[in-house]
Amino acid sequence: MTVYADNAATTKMSRTAIDAMLPYMESIYGNPSSLHSVGQVAAEALCEARRTVAEVLNASPKEIYFTSGGSESDNQAIRSAALSGKKQGKTHIVSTRFEHHAVLHTLKKLESEGFEVELLDVGPIGTVTAEQVKRAIRPETCLVTAMFANNEIGSVLPIEEIGKVCRERGVVFHTDAVQAAGHLHIDVKAMNIDMLSLSAHKFHGPKGVGALYVRTGVKLLGLIEGGDQERGKRAGTENIPGIVGMAAALKEAADHIDENAAKVSALRDRLIEGLSRIPHSALNGDPANRLPGNVSFCFEGIEGESLLLLLDAKGICASSGSACTSGSLDPSHVLLAIGRPHEVAHGSLRLTLSAENTDEDIDLILRETPAVVERLRDMSPVWKDLVKGRRQFVL
Ligand SMILES: *Cc1c(COP(=O)(O)O)cnc(C)c1O
Repeated sequence: MTVYADNAATTKMSRTAIDAMLPYMESIYGNPSSLHSVGQVAAEALCEARRTVAEVLNASPKEIYFTSGGSESDNQAIRSAALSGKKQGKTHIVSTRFEHHAVLHTLKKLESEGFEVELLDVGPIGTVTAEQVKRAIRPETCLVTAMFANNEIGSVLPIEEIGKVCRERGVVFHTDAVQAAGHLHIDVKAMNIDMLSLSAHKFHGPKGVGALYVRTGVKLLGLIEGGDQERGKRAGTENIPGIVGMAAALKEAADHIDENAAKVSALRDRLIEGLSRIPHSALNGDPANRLPGNVSFCFEGIEGESLLLLLDAKGICASSGSACTSGSLDPSHVLLAIGRPHEVAHGSLRLTLSAENTDEDIDLILRETPAVVERLRDMSPVWKDLVKGRRQFVL
């Protein structure tokens, strides 16, 4: 038996998404830019998918641009807002310390191009308040980019309040909603969101396809030059099977959003309660405003990597933080941002659930994890030092 508990890294495609895509790989192969009937059938599917994605976000279809995923959407939104701002002499950008690397690395690049980037502290539970954003905004601020929900520790930010502050001050507000889309209610109008990124493979759709919402009136610059696809903002023949699959997956997720959140958060709470019993452990992230499927812990005196390997041998697929930093020896920037010391940040475990998980999955995780942690601690020289008092416990 394999228990898949790494849904923040990617999700299994839903039957609905696969079934929606199949005709567009088998028989409806036209290029939507072609004027003949074969192309026009594909163009209609593209139109319909755009309508569906817009409807779920409470946007208008002309505000939706299809991309290759969350990373591309983040890059385009941020770069576009920054360069548009620069033309008006505004080169100050506000963001947070615990964004995804698609955001942080784009900001780093912009910094080297002369922009001033201010990253807000996220505090011990890992969140940012609208008040912090308000204080950071200056007359020369061209963009606030803050994630909807964090991919490592699951904190959900007060997006509606942050959006309100940005709108009042006339600053473009982008949110990386890759972890939120399909899992939390999103209303771009009510939340005053100007730009929003999402990615299909995080809500049981296909990989390599995403969307960027850009409010009418907010300027969008393209990253990829070429043909006139996506109203001239994103060249390249559209990924029709992917786009159709994404729309189907998003609609399915939106139709079951409350029911799935109730089911998944009940599993999550059982896991959090059970893992909290492990001595010298701590939950990471906001205990109250939290993604339904996110469980993130630090265990003192162990290495997250070894924990993952031993859990995998027991049939449990988990993660130590983000899929992007695994393989590197640096501890997660998110765990450091919430104040975990290096040695504690190394002993992290992220379990991210979906509606496909069951109570039996949770039973298995709760049976195996404490034993594996104990086994690793027994072998750890650091743990020995802690127990013997040669080193202070942090957790
Ligand atoms: C997965 C993820 C991304 C990247 O999305 P891709 O479609 O894999 O490029 C960006 N931001 C967050 C918060 C994510 O979880």
